[in-house]
Amino acid sequence: MTVNASGRSVMERCDILGGYSEEPDCLTRPFASQSMRQANEAVAAWMQAAGMTVQQDKVGNLIGRYEASQAGAKTLLLGSHLDSVRDAGKYDGPLGVMVALACVERLHARRERLPFAIEVLAFADEEGLRYHSDYIGSKVATGTFDPEALHLTDAEGISMAEAIRAFGGDPDPEALQTARWHRDELLAYCEVHIEQGPVLEARNLPVGVVSAIAGQNRISMRFVGEAGHAGTVPMSLRRDALCAAAEFVLAVEAIAHSLPGLVATVGQVSVQPGASNVIPGQVTLSVDVRHQDDAVREQACRQLEERTREIGVARHVSFNWQILQGHRAMSCAPHLVGLLAQAIEEMGYPLLSLPSGAGHDAVTLSELTDVAMLFVRCRGGVSHNPAESVTMEDVEIAIQVLERFLLLLR
Ligand SMILES: [Zn+2]
Repeated sequence: MTVNASGRSVMERCDILGGYSEEPDCLTRPFASQSMRQANEAVAAWMQAAGMTVQQDKVGNLIGRYEASQAGAKTLLLGSHLDSVRDAGKYDGPLGVMVALACVERLHARRERLPFAIEVLAFADEEGLRYHSDYIGSKVATGTFDPEALHLTDAEGISMAEAIRAFGGDPDPEALQTARWHRDELLAYCEVHIEQGPVLEARNLPVGVVSAIAGQNRISMRFVGEAGHAGTVPMSLRRDALCAAAEFVLAVEAIAHSLPGLVATVGQVSVQPGASNVIPGQVTLSVDVRHQDDAVREQACRQLEERTREIGVARHVSFNWQILQGHRAMSCAPHLVGLLAQAIEEMGYPLLSLPSGAGHDAVTLSELTDVAMLFVRCRGGVSHNPAESVTMEDVEIAIQVLERFLLLLR
């Protein structure tokens, strides 16, 4: 089986999966939906044809298993997710599942077994479109699922428990908290994913090795000044919350520039009372801060809070700083990163190791085993968008790197 044939097949399969959607004119494939059922059926058939035994777990994850050359061997996990955001592209998620499947298919075609079993995982939910709850699939697989989420309802009022049952799963809270594997049974988890950023394209590289997945803080900031008449309150007597917020937004940008690798974003601003002839009395902002090193991220948050205090004092505006969410960074396992790097260099490509600013199933899997990720260049760094695009040549390289990784790992 030539690598060209494998690459073509991955591209064709991503096209086929891209047609399974809840909406006629765009790709929207939420958790436990009819389109997800179609996707699982198609992938299950491909897995079987590649010599794997296939099952769907209690939450709808699809698992294809390719046995090892010997009994009692450990299991290597490969995969990604099959769900999508609304009006999605074809590759975010499915590409990782299809590249993993292609590698097993190539082993099967050569009648080759490895000293470890391979399980290709197609997770049922990573994007959280239907229940705004991330990683349902990988959390159930790793036994880290919080059963409270079963009570969440979707836009039509259907609870997650009902959706799981209707999909043929089992919403038993205890079963959902039981990991499929024991830590000792696993070798590692490796995920191939589109980069979702512009770095590989800018460096003219087909693939890159992920060093770490960035830690993240989500902060809610509120400045409280005093609303007043836009015509009668003199400038010197104002306590304008929006002017304070404007300084704050630029401070976020400046601090991000001052710390290499830090990204920080103010994405939401809400102004009260929000009238053209009223001085803004209250402004609420969202801040998203990410870095692959937790210490740097924490330093950035401290600097930002300090700067906020200065702005507040100077402008006689009070502020409220609330950290809504904090995720630690997740480092990829150095020995796995080394093997992916070796595979890339053996193929004659320069090595680029880069952090992932976006979260992935690998974060959840890291609770259970060592993880690694391979990024594939995507055009313009665009993702979560129908314009998402990869080339067949890059996909072929990703297949070869993952295949070489499997052989190096043994
Ligand atoms: Zn993804």
